Amino acid sequence: MIKRELIVKTLNEMFPNPKSDLNYSNHFEMLIAVVLSAQTTDVSVNKVTPELFSKYPNPKSLKEAPIEDLENILKSIGLYKTKAKNIKNLSKILHDKYDSKIPSERKDLESLPGVGRKTANVVLANAFGKNVIAVDTHVNRVSKRLGIAKESDNVLEVEERIVKYFQKDDLKKLHHQLIFFGRYHCLARNPKCENCPLQEVCVFYKKFEK
Ligand code: SF4
Repeated sequence: MIKRELIVKTLNEMFPNPKSDLNYSNHFEMLIAVVLSAQTTDVSVNKVTPELFSKYPNPKSLKEAPIEDLENILKSIGLYKTKAKNIKNLSKILHDKYDSKIPSERKDLESLPGVGRKTANVVLANAFGKNVIAVDTHVNRVSKRLGIAKESDNVLEVEERIVKYFQKDDLKKLHHQLIFFGRYHCLARNPKCENCPLQEVCVFYKKFEK
């Protein structure tokens, strides 16, 4: 079996129905949750979003929210002051410019406060079914260890290599699978190499573990 097929097969076996660890119930909540998740765990985001979404369920209410109240709700997560400001301003733009809908074009998404390429890709994949991949710290590490990307690649280069390497139709699922593989198996400090089904194709394993 060629390496790419082995990786896809293994990830499908390990994570057959991957879905985001973030809790949300519509596209607006998803966008807000992903913005809040920057440099913070999904678990900590899930602790603050029930109150946030129940008090401010749409762009109109969130754009009118008192900033002090947003900061108070978000204070347990990293960068909460910046994130409070971003989600308020982002909601104003969504309401005033996009009729409270989430735009489906990358350039429109990336023009929103707090939304970079990674967040835009998550939204494009999950909300609009686009075959794109968002490179977070786990996807970046796993891709390099498996030799899909080079150690010196920046995040955009890693994304481009993944897109070229895999079949387009696999990308949306692979996004979650690579995150889970990195989060729960190929961990940054203690990867579970001893019982990893990808040992034989892993550049990192061949270099350091054997
Ligand atoms: S062999 Fe180790 S480093 Fe390589 S993919 Fe598996 S867990 Fe990660």
